[in-house]
Amino acid sequence: MIGKFIPYTILAVVTGAALWRDAPYATLSLVMLMMAWYTIRMMLTSDAPPDVREERDAKRERLLTSAVGVGMIFVPLITLGTPVFDSAAYSPLPGQVLLGGLTGLAGLYVFWRSHADLGQLWSAHLELREGHTLVTSGIYSRMRHPMYTAIFLIVTAQALLLTNWFAGPAGLVVFTLLYALRIGPEERMLADQFGPEWEAYARRTPRLLPRLRA
Ligand code: SAH
Repeated sequence: MIGKFIPYTILAVVTGAALWRDAPYATLSLVMLMMAWYTIRMMLTSDAPPDVREERDAKRERLLTSAVGVGMIFVPLITLGTPVFDSAAYSPLPGQVLLGGLTGLAGLYVFWRSHADLGQLWSAHLELREGHTLVTSGIYSRMRHPMYTAIFLIVTAQALLLTNWFAGPAGLVVFTLLYALRIGPEERMLADQFGPEWEAYARRTPRLLPRLRA
């Protein structure tokens, strides 16, 4: 349990260093965004989810999620707290920080809804759990991959709030790679498992952009 609070401590230290270094609004928004998505994930995922019954592409999946961790967490923290990437820093355009903040809020809302609706069936990797069912309700009735929609919004917010040509887009680049390589295998896994139920769901529900009328 205590271990789960280590990230808050690291973030607090890095925030102090970053504010001292400059760019308070963009920095504070980015740090709050990171704390918020971490908190949502920590609160809405279980310490003891049902056992994994089937796993696919285990090695590649771990490589991809590690790369996303580097792009969304490690690189931003290093950029905020140290001068390592300062040579790629730039000043934000007017409105850029506001737009980043709004994009981040939208991402957090969708992230929260998708974690709430997926519940114990969430995995960081391609996995089916004991008693896995197909979730098609709540935000999953509007799109098939709301959590990926949410993460795309969050990494776009990172690109706008972290005014650094290298570190800003880093999350977007690695998450796009993960999405491109994972989406096919994930849908194949769900189709293998749920057959006609998946086919019908996929026919009436778009992938990433919400169907507006229920
Ligand atoms: N792609 C989804 C879920 C991401 S979490 C989204 O973006 O919202 C990844 C895990 O969710 C996968 O291992 C898969 O087992 C599970 N999953 C994906 N879609 C699901 C659904 N509609 N119902 C139940 N589990 C699902």
